[in-house]
Amino acid sequence: MCIAHRLRKSSTVRDALKLFAAVLLSGTMKINDDLHVLEVPMPLAGTVNIMNLSLIVDPVHGLTLVDTGLPSQADLVEETIAAEGFSSADLKQIILTHQDLDHVGALHPLKERTGAAVFAYVDEIPYIDGTIIPLKMPTPERLLQYPEMAERLKHYKPTPVDEAVTDGQILPRSAGVQAIATPGHSPGHMSLYFPATKTLITGDALTSADGVLNGPSRGATPNMELAMESVKKLAQLDVETIICYHGGLVTQDANAQLKRVAGI
Ligand SMILES: [Zn+2]
Repeated sequence: MCIAHRLRKSSTVRDALKLFAAVLLSGTMKINDDLHVLEVPMPLAGTVNIMNLSLIVDPVHGLTLVDTGLPSQADLVEETIAAEGFSSADLKQIILTHQDLDHVGALHPLKERTGAAVFAYVDEIPYIDGTIIPLKMPTPERLLQYPEMAERLKHYKPTPVDEAVTDGQILPRSAGVQAIATPGHSPGHMSLYFPATKTLITGDALTSADGVLNGPSRGATPNMELAMESVKKLAQLDVETIICYHGGLVTQDANAQLKRVAGI
């Protein structure tokens, strides 16, 4: 549905203003020929943060989306892909870094509309396909506290995963990207590494703020000890560009920053 139509459908001025803010905050950025970052707003409790989805461009095989935003954001994700000059009709694959709702939220409609094949790390699949309830699914108390979250959750559906990924695997049809198992933030969390361009997509294994790399979010990481082991593993890679889902791009002294966060 186009923005103008959604604005007309907005039931209150507040809804319309929120949608305007979301559109203004959406953005895109070309990192290199293989990779674009899609900035998608994450509104919660009166504040709006940005989620950094990645779009891998394989010249032969089409587009691969990494993570999908919140439930009810499928239209916005498709509009953001279009704003970068691509068509979501060319979306052939969706890679999920992990099970959390801000990463798998719009998976179901995006898969249904495009027929994209879904990839996730093998240990994470049961949480995504509905076999097990996602570990950080909001409690009824939390949903009472955040009615907008309850509203969004109505749009969420578990979705089958087509391809189980293992550690070190080079994923097909996606510009040679390699899966790196980085458990801790969730049991089957994975990051993605492009050896040719020394680019790392961290998911939530790391965060950043204004170009400064930080560790995983304490509040949202159930196994911090394991998560820090994963950071040490990532620090063995040679990186020039780091993309954190929460916080965005880190390019200044990327290797040194990664080693600092890893404490090595
Ligand atoms: Zn997460």
